[in-house]
Amino acid sequence: MDFLREIQELRQFFRSGRTRSVAWRKKQVKALLQLIHDNEQAIFEALRQDLGKHPVEAYRDEIGVVEKSANNSLNHVEKWMAPRKSHVPFLFFPAKGEVISEPLGVVLIFSSWNFPISLALDPLIGAISAGNAVVLKPSEQAPACSSLLAKTIPHYLDPDAIKVIEGGADVSEQLLLQRWDKIFFTGSSRVASIVMTAAAKTLTPVTLELGGKCPAILDSLSSPSELKTAVKRIVGGKWGPCSGQACIAVDYVLVEEKFAPVLIELLKKFIRRFYGDNPKESKVTARIVNKQHFQRLCNLLKDPLVVNSIVHGGSVDEEELFIEPTILLDPPLDAQIMTEEIFGPFLPVITVNQIQESIEFINSRPKPLTLYAFTKDETFKRKIVSETSSGSVSFNDTLVHFLCETLPFGGVGQSGFGRYHGKYSFDTFSHEKAILHRKLFLEIEPRYPPWNQLKMQF
Ligand code: NAD
Repeated sequence: MDFLREIQELRQFFRSGRTRSVAWRKKQVKALLQLIHDNEQAIFEALRQDLGKHPVEAYRDEIGVVEKSANNSLNHVEKWMAPRKSHVPFLFFPAKGEVISEPLGVVLIFSSWNFPISLALDPLIGAISAGNAVVLKPSEQAPACSSLLAKTIPHYLDPDAIKVIEGGADVSEQLLLQRWDKIFFTGSSRVASIVMTAAAKTLTPVTLELGGKCPAILDSLSSPSELKTAVKRIVGGKWGPCSGQACIAVDYVLVEEKFAPVLIELLKKFIRRFYGDNPKESKVTARIVNKQHFQRLCNLLKDPLVVNSIVHGGSVDEEELFIEPTILLDPPLDAQIMTEEIFGPFLPVITVNQIQESIEFINSRPKPLTLYAFTKDETFKRKIVSETSSGSVSFNDTLVHFLCETLPFGGVGQSGFGRYHGKYSFDTFSHEKAILHRKLFLEIEPRYPPWNQLKMQF
């Protein structure tokens, strides 16, 4: 595999300066919107083939996300690009300061398979809005979506500046040997460390959008209807996105022991309401992506102590790559299901004596991508924010913070670093260049040698 020529072409095109104009950037983003509109049915079909996603879920989590992001960029990119005046302290008089966002150059985007359209195109929107040339490497584990992107993107977007390169780990490793101005990676921490090691050799900046275990704290809420809403949102945030195969899916719930039975009954009620009495037959649940991940998930249930903790579900069908929405009550804390990101349809409920203990529980584990907490207690909310560390905190809802483009999205610690969405995407793919304009008068002579006692007094 020799990508050198293709990357050189991108670099030449970038150097021509054509990606810098606002007209070029907007044209590309509009073309991306057109691609989505013209190929909506093909996208639904590819998502069905790769993940069994229902078109409504596919629209909500993939097409809708991309449309929202593209429209936001079209509405704001001129403002984002505008040079910003910067206050210069009097000491520097006479001077003016400004900051301009310049494109980084040729950037590489790796996406993952669970949202194979939106996690490829959303960073792409950021990269082209910021005026970069791009190589997109979609995940090989969603082959229908990868192939659709590779076929359609060159027809809609400028092929001199945006290329899609398909392939697995071998292709990715070759790509990592090339020189990039930025690598934006969405995926696992295992591969992230390969990416970062390669990037370190050329001092290439990276953004790592990773995963981890996102806890949900369920405090006792004051009314039964609030409790129902909270549990409904937990069910939506666990099984709703791609059957739990989502970086921001609820990984486990922390609840006071005395509320666990009520929680479990409500979880079962909403599972039945959303997925029917026989979830396998409902066309609503996405499938596990492939046999390897299916096996990984089944292995999480191998420990007899884990199996004994199942209080709902647990059935699997390898042929159909189906795993039933499954609830576990207090599985052993040192079992894999509680030490690794689940990334699938199992929901452990972990009981604590006092809900305040959940802070210590979370702090004893790697920093989550998102921490969810359902509570009306303002003191507890402040404690959660100030005493824990996570990429984001979302109170009284799940998932929707991902759609809020005015908030940065990204991890901290093992859940990654860097952030994107909205203006943050633009910034992630830009260099903020500082410019100082001075005048050629008003010299302060003591700044120059020769040094003497008098100059020491300044
Ligand atoms: P992955 O790390 O296996 O793959 C991600 C990308 O890396 C793919 O494009 C893949 O082709 C490439 N890759 C695979 N092997 C490679 C290698 N040896 N060298 C270089 N590149 C290689 O991750 P995945 O299975 O696609 O995604 C699951 C993980 O991603 C989960 O941990 C999940 O939490 C995380 N995730 C995070 C976000 C986020 O926005 N933070 C979103 C989705 C998924």
